[in-house]
Formats: sequence, structure tokens, C-alpha cells
Amino acid sequence: MDEIRAGNVATVIVKDQSRIGRDVVEVGLLKRTFDEYNVRFIAANDNLDTANGFDIMSIFRDVINEWYVEDLSDNIKSVYRSKMRQGQFLGSFAVYGYQKDKADKHKLVIDEDAAEVVREIFQLYLSGYGTKSICLHLQEKGILVPSQYKKSKGLNYKTPYDDRYNGMWSQSTVKRILSNESYIGTLIQGREKKISYKSKKVVLAPKEEWVVIKDNHEPIISKEDFYKVQELLKMNRKNPKKTAPMGKFYPLAGKVKCKDCGSTMVRSGTKGTNANYLRCRLASKSASRECTNHNIKYSLLEERILATLQEHVNDMIDNQPQLDDIAAQLVPMEGGRKKELEASIKKLYQEQEKLNTGLRNCYIDKYSSEMDEDMFLRIKEEYSRKIKSINQEIEITEGKLSVYCSNSQISQAAHDILKKYSTFTELTNEMAYDFIDFVEIGEKNEAGEQDVIIHWNF
Ligand SMILES: [Zn+2]
Repeated sequence: MDEIRAGNVATVIVKDQSRIGRDVVEVGLLKRTFDEYNVRFIAANDNLDTANGFDIMSIFRDVINEWYVEDLSDNIKSVYRSKMRQGQFLGSFAVYGYQKDKADKHKLVIDEDAAEVVREIFQLYLSGYGTKSICLHLQEKGILVPSQYKKSKGLNYKTPYDDRYNGMWSQSTVKRILSNESYIGTLIQGREKKISYKSKKVVLAPKEEWVVIKDNHEPIISKEDFYKVQELLKMNRKNPKKTAPMGKFYPLAGKVKCKDCGSTMVRSGTKGTNANYLRCRLASKSASRECTNHNIKYSLLEERILATLQEHVNDMIDNQPQLDDIAAQLVPMEGGRKKELEASIKKLYQEQEKLNTGLRNCYIDKYSSEMDEDMFLRIKEEYSRKIKSINQEIEITEGKLSVYCSNSQISQAAHDILKKYSTFTELTNEMAYDFIDFVEIGEKNEAGEQDVIIHWNF
């Protein structure tokens, strides 16, 4: 080094680059000295020569990077998460029903063939078919299970899930599809996390750490249908026995109550055709005399509900101009405010990106010893503070935006429901879910008449 500083050296040749040391700070100094005294550096075995544009520091780029990642693995995560928060899809494979946009691999677009199957599964479930009947139906139609479908499209897709059923549709696959929020446009990422930056092992992240973006991509299923299905899934989990023969559960399951004791009315008889009557559960317990049967023919009940429902819906449809007026007033006002919020969110993310880059450069400067420790700490502190505050601001603004979305969704939902039920002849699970809170059945009087009191959801 003294020789170099004395200006006696024009070229330094080493056998291979590993000879020049493992300490980046030291090499940083070396590089500066070389640059300052205009010394040419050649690593013979590696065929590297500063005269050919080789940069000594590049040997250490990996090392620097590792330090950076180690020190800042939280920050890296935040960059990654900020991408997720912008709705960029970072996974390897799109969920069944979607594909990566060919023009932008961080965007999901609908894969029409698979989406059609997803829609059919939701429709079947909403009209009362159980997951088992749905499997049989898909099997009969010769529809490929998601993993095989992806393979048929030439993707090297592996999953621990549906392969064990040998390409057969399983109830768990159907349930997974029915409960997957991706289908209403929600992007959920960050469900898994690595236990350390060095390890490949992943664990399930706690739910509050997931990055969830609503209305990120085009939905396949309407929100109304999706949430109805979630409710039905929940009901079925609680009451698997309510599933009727042929995999169909009846629309009023769990919603009919005895007017006198408040118990749920259950189907009498055992299975199949005998299950045409509903009866008070308390009375049906053989030992109990605490309540009477309150028997009612199921088809009769359904007819009465349908007739009343028809009246109600017609009333609502007559009032639709009023609904239209309200919606027309709401939409443009929200549109402007929504755009404003979206623009400021975009700006905040750009700012966040800049700060992250700045902090990263700051690390590189430090390790190439172009910045002393004190300075580094001060700048790092400043950056971290700014990043933290911008993250908070992003969160707040995104929260505001989500409120605006839901307002317009409400008026839309009202329209959709009315439109769908303007004509109907049969009481479906969907309708029962939308309209009926619960039904009370009274005991028959001497003339054979009984009360049917319907409690509507509206
Ligand atoms: Zn009763």
C-alpha cells in the first residue's frame, strides 16, 4: 500500500480475486486508493481487469447484499409488502379461475374456462346442492380438477391438495373454492412467511399480517352470492344433518321455530319422502311433554312464504325509481372523492418507494465506506422515521377508500337483489337467505288453522 501511495505502482496483479480479502470495508479503502492513484487491478485466474471496466467492489456486491438483507430484512419485507399493498400479485401461480396477465405478470385476469366452472360450483351450492353432489356433477361432466387443469395448460404446478384423490373432485377442493375470497376480487398475500431471511422454511403467518386488498382484480362471483355461500357453509358445518337426501338441504333449514316454545322445527320422519313435515323439536323428544307437535306440511309452508314474498318484492320493484334516484345521486359524488383518494394513495406509495431506495443506498454507501458510522446512523434514523410515518398515512388513506367503496356497493346490492327476484316460482336457499330472518309456527286450532308468522330481513 505504501508503494501505491508513493506512486510507484501502476498495476496490481493477483492470482485470483479471493486473494484481495474478505472484508468489504477494507476492500472499499483499497478500491479508493486504487482509483486515487490510478492503479490497474488484474485478477488473472478470473479474467478480471479494471482496465476492461471491472469494478473491484462488484466482488462484494453479494456480501453487501447479504448484510443489507440481514440488517434490513424487515425493510425488505416492507418493500415486498408495499408491492403487495399496491395489489401486485407476487405468487408463482394464479388461483384457479384466474391467470397472470400476459402483459403484466403482477396482475390477475380471468381465465374464462376455469371461471365458468367456479361460477357453476357457486350456483349449484346456492341452489341447494351439497359439496358431495357438486363433486359428482363435475366428475360426470369430465371437468379436470384445478391441479390437473393447470398442468393441462402447461404449468409446472404442484399442490399437496387434490392429487391424493387421483384427479377426482373432492369435497375439500370444492369447499376451498367456495370459501376463496379471490373470487370476489380480493387479493390475499403474505399468508406464509419465512422463519428467517436465510431459511427456506415457511410457516403460516398470523392473519393480521396478511396483506389483503379488496376489489383488486375482476371478480368471478358477486359479493352477495359469495357471502351467502359463506353463511350457508357455516350453517352446514353446524348442522350437517340438515342436509336433505340427494345432497339438497332445504331452504328454510334452521329458520323455522315453534311459536310457543321457541325451539327449532325439525323434519319429522327419518329420511327421504317421510321428511315432508316439520315438527317442534322439543315435542319430538320422546320423553318430553313440554310442547306439542305444531306439525306443518313443508310444501304448504313454502307456498305461503312464496306468496307473501311475491307481494313484498312487487312492492319493492314498484318503488325502484326511488332507489334509482338515490343511487344516481350517490355515484358521481363518490366517484370524484374516490379518484382523489386513489391518486393520493398512489403518490404515497411512490414516496415510500423513494425512501426505501434512499435507505438502501445509504447502506451501500456505508459498506463501501463512503459514509462514516455517525452520519450513517443519523441518516438511517431519519429514513426509518419517514418510512414509518408514510406507512401510517397509507394505512389511513386506504381505510378511507374502503369506506367509500362499500357505500356504492350497498346501493348496487339493493338493485341486484330486486332484479334477480322480479320473477320466481320456487323458494331457493338463496332467497331464503336474502329475505327471511325466521318463521314462527303456531299450533293448529280446532278448525285446523295455524299461525305462520314470517319475520323478514327487510
Ligand atoms: Zn314447541
